[in-house]
This record gives sequence, structure tokens and C-alpha cells, in this order.
Amino acid sequence: MADTSTSLDSRRRFLAQLSLGAALAAVAGAAAALPQSEPDPMKTTDSAKLGYAIVGLGKFATQQIMPNFKDCQHARITALVSGSPEKARKLAREYGVAEKSVYSYENFDSIKDNPEVDIVYIILPNGLHAEYTIRAARAGKHVLCEKPMATSVEDCQKMIDACNKAGKKLMIAYRAHYEPFNLDAVERIRKGELGKLRAITSDHGRPVKPTEEKADVWRVDKKLAGGGSLMDIGIYALNAARYLTGEEPEEVTAQEFSDKSDPRFKEVEDNIHFTLRFPSGVLASCTSSYSYAEVKRGRAFGDKAWLDLDPLSDYYEHNLKIGDKEGKREPKLQEGNQFAAQLDHLAECVRDNKTPKTPGEEGLKDVRYIMAIYEAARKGKAVKV
Ligand code: NDP
Repeated sequence: MADTSTSLDSRRRFLAQLSLGAALAAVAGAAAALPQSEPDPMKTTDSAKLGYAIVGLGKFATQQIMPNFKDCQHARITALVSGSPEKARKLAREYGVAEKSVYSYENFDSIKDNPEVDIVYIILPNGLHAEYTIRAARAGKHVLCEKPMATSVEDCQKMIDACNKAGKKLMIAYRAHYEPFNLDAVERIRKGELGKLRAITSDHGRPVKPTEEKADVWRVDKKLAGGGSLMDIGIYALNAARYLTGEEPEEVTAQEFSDKSDPRFKEVEDNIHFTLRFPSGVLASCTSSYSYAEVKRGRAFGDKAWLDLDPLSDYYEHNLKIGDKEGKREPKLQEGNQFAAQLDHLAECVRDNKTPKTPGEEGLKDVRYIMAIYEAARKGKAVKV
């Protein structure tokens, strides 16, 4: 994907900052000796960070994403987009965003004239991801988009096409790909620590609350959510089965169980159990639910050992256990900041003109498998993918 002059300019800015940084490091002692009233020259590095516009100031954006920019080395918040001007202005003050860089959904397209914005991060209900990704690309911005990428394969393709046409990066926010415990598990499996991989299981569930919690209202609205628990959290099981095996499934089967008298499940599914058959013969058995008590785990079974990630997809807590005929062990691993790692990854890809680890094509694959899982559940028979 060819990048336009904006990213070259950003790159030049970055390289200039790098040499400035090296020069500053060389005179660090002298800098430390500067009188208190002198401006701190190291602070200039903030302007070398790429600017993100956050679109949709809901629960996930405000409680997880925005606070974690503090740990980013290459990314900062430079604009906000919201349908709630008061909330947006308050958050802008809190995060040091200029008032002129607060947008509504109506004037969002004028973000094209804001040189402080390099990347637009879409954190809207699923059914709005395609529209805002395409508008962002047309405005000449790179895009980070929340999972699931969109509510149809066609929309995913349109998003990829729009970003390609604009010469802009598109990355899907699969945070587990930037999370140390998951990365360690993948490495162990690839190195053969489990022997020959035979099976994966993964369960993802939480009770959805449409009436008590505002955040969940759109989640049970088919148009805005695209589907139920599978689109929202079952996607973690599906994606984990793919990155743990390193393979693409050939066939899926599925069964759905939803209490249609429950107002939450009039339009979207509650429980869906699915299996993915991979070319090596590995079978992944996954469950997804909007009525389980919270669960987010994954297991891989090899012919020598098994590996357990529980939780696998939490925001801040992960556990990895390995078991074999010698017994169980827990490798010592350090929690990382998957949110900051993900934000920095795209910023670095933009600067270095590299393809992100989780590009639009990765999001499209999952949406294609999700559609096959729904089809298998509907038809009651296996579907080839
Ligand atoms: P919320 O409902 O909390 O936030 C969505 C925000 O989108 C709203 O607050 C609102 O922001 C804006 N919005 C614009 N139009 C609508 C509309 N018609 N209905 C509802 N909201 C609207 O949802 P979440 O933050 O939980 O989820 C947002 C996205 O993030 C989803 O795609 C979800 O799948 C994803 N997500 C990802 C997670 C992860 O771990 N990667 C975890 C949780 C969510 P405003 O008032 O500013 O206009």
C-alpha cells in the first residue's frame, strides 16, 4: 500500500526527532543541570507522536483506550468525535485536546483539514464501523477500527478498498495480538512445546444488560450489532483458535440456543457453540454466550502437553499454565499494556510504511467465518469455508 506525503512528512518529523533525541541523550548531564525555569527539552518528543482522533466516546473508549495512551511512546490523542458535545468538551479538557479538534458526526469529514490527526480510531457500535472507516479514509487519515470489523463481508471489503484507494493503513483492534501472555502461548505452540497440536477449546461469555446498562442497548439491536454474543465476544474464541493454530479453518459446524421470550434475544443470539476444523486436523470447540457468568478462556491440547490461558482476553489479567506428565507449571510472565502496544504498533506502521500485524484482511476473515458459523447454525449442517 503506497503512502502519501503525510506519512513521509511524519517520518521526516520522526527521524528529526530521533536525531534530536540522540543529541539530547548525549548532553543529558548538561540538561539535568539546567535551571528549573528553563523548558525541559525532552518534552518536545511529544510532538513526534502520531495523533489519534477517537470516534465514539463510549464505555470502552473512555474507560480503557483513552487512559492507556499515557503508556504510549508513539501515539497521543489529538482529536475527539462525539454526538455528545458536553461530554466531548469535558474529555477534551481532561486530555489536553484543543477545542477546535472536537468534532460531531455531522462535521467529522472536516477532520481532513486537521494536520494534528494522523489516525482515526473507530470505537462506535459495530454497524457504524464501515461508514466511519470509509469517511476517515476519504479524509486522508489512517484507520484503527474496533472488532468486529463490520457487520457484513461486503462492508469489510468496502473498508479495505477505501483505505487502499486513499493509500492509508487499516488495522483492526485485535488487542490479544499485542498481549504478552497470548504471544508467549503462540510461541510455545510454534516451538512444539505441546507436541503435535490436536485441539483447541475456548469459551467467552458475559451477561448482557440492555435495560440497566446503556452500553449494551445497541448490542441487542441487530442493525447496530450485526449479531449477538458471537459478533461481540465469541469473536475472541474464533480469532484465538486461528492464532493459536496458525491455520485457517476449512469447515465449521454450529448450534444456537436463545430464549426468544427474553427481550434481550429478540433480534440477536445468546448462546452459540461452534467447531472449526483446521487442515492439520485440529478441532476447535468454542462457546459464546450473553448469559454466562463472565468467562474468557482458551486451551490448546497437544500430544505432549496442554496449555491454558485463563483469562485469555481480559483487559489487565492473564494466567498461563502448562501441564504434561511431569505435572503443572506456571511460567513467570509480566503483564503488558496491550492497549498502548496496539496504538503504538499502528503509529510505527504508519511511520515506517509497514503493514500492521492485524490489517483489514484479518478482520474480514473473521467476519467471513462468523457468517459461515451463523449459516451452519441455521442449516444445522457443516459449512465449508
Ligand atoms: P458504548 O455503547 O459504550 O459506546 C459506543 C459509543 O458510540 C457511544 O457512547 C456513542 O458515543 C457512540 N455512538 C454513536 N452512535 C451511536 C448509536 N446509534 N448507538 C450507540 N452509541 C452510538 O459501546 P462500547 O464502547 O462498549 O463498544 C464500542 C465498540 O468497541 C464496539 O465495536 C465494540 O465491539 C468495541 N469494543 C471492543 C472491546 C475490546 O476489548 N477490543 C471492548 C469493548 C468494546 P458518543 O456519545 O461520544 O457519540
